[in-house]
Amino acid sequence: MKISIMTLFPSMFEGFINTSIISRAKANNIVEIECIDIREFALDRFKHVDDTPYGGGAGMILKCQPVIDCLNSIRTENSHVILMAPVGKIFKQKMAHEFKKYDHLIIICGHYEGIDARVYDYVDELVSIGDYVLTGGELAAMVVADATIRLLKGSIDENSALDESFENGLLEYPQYTKPSVYDGKKVPEVLLSGHHKNIEQYRLKMSLKTTLLNRPDLLEKITLDDRSQKLLVEIEEELKNDCK
Ligand code: SAM
Repeated sequence: MKISIMTLFPSMFEGFINTSIISRAKANNIVEIECIDIREFALDRFKHVDDTPYGGGAGMILKCQPVIDCLNSIRTENSHVILMAPVGKIFKQKMAHEFKKYDHLIIICGHYEGIDARVYDYVDELVSIGDYVLTGGELAAMVVADATIRLLKGSIDENSALDESFENGLLEYPQYTKPSVYDGKKVPEVLLSGHHKNIEQYRLKMSLKTTLLNRPDLLEKITLDDRSQKLLVEIEEELKNDCK
C-alpha cells in the first residue's frame, strides 16, 4: 500500500515515519509513505497558498489551486482521496479496515482557518478524528495513517490486532505483565493459572465490564451471544452488590 500525505509541513511527519512499527513496516515494504509539500505548487514567487475568507472573518483559507494541482500530480485511478476536516465523518476502526484495502490512499491536511470548500468536490470523503479542532490536519493524518498501517498484513502480530478494542465491538480486557505483584497490587489469579478456558472466560467478562463502565454506547450497537448476555447480567448484579 502507498500513502501520500499532502501537507504544508512535511517535517512534522519525520518522527512518525521513522519510528517504531511504522518505520519497520516501511523498511519491510509493507507500506510506502510520501509527504508532498503543497507549497511547491504555489504559482507566485512568494509561494502563497492561502488568502482571506470571502464574506470576512478571522484567519486565512488554503486556496483551491495549489491543493488541486498537488492532488492532480499524484492521483491515479487507484487513489482514494480523503481530506482531514472537523466537518467530516468520524474516523473509526471500521474505517481503518476500509482504508487498508486501497492500493493508494491520499490524505490532504488543511491548516490555518481551513480549506476552500470547493476542494470537497475533488475528494472521495471528508474525515474527522473527533469533535475538537486542531491547528492543522497533520496530527489527524498521522492518526488515520497509523491506525491503517498497523492493520496491514505483517505490520504487527495478526493475533494481537484481532483481540483489540473495537475489533468485536467491545473494549479490550485489562492486560498485565511481570511482576505478578507490584506495590501490593496482584495480577488476577486466573491469569497465572495457565487454564486457557478460564482465562478466555475471564477476559470476555472483563471486556464486557470495561465496555459497560466506559463506553455503554458500544453495547447498544452490537448483538451479544447467549454467553456474553449471561456474563453481562452477572456483571450488572456484581456492580449492584458493590454499591450496597
Ligand atoms: N475552521 C475549521 C472549522 O471550524 O471546522 C477548522 C480549521 S482547523 C483550525 C485547520 C485544519 O486542521 C482543518 O482544515 C483540518 O484539515 C484540520 N483539522 C482540525 N481539526 C480536525 C479534526 N478534528 N479532524 C480532522 N482534521 C482536523
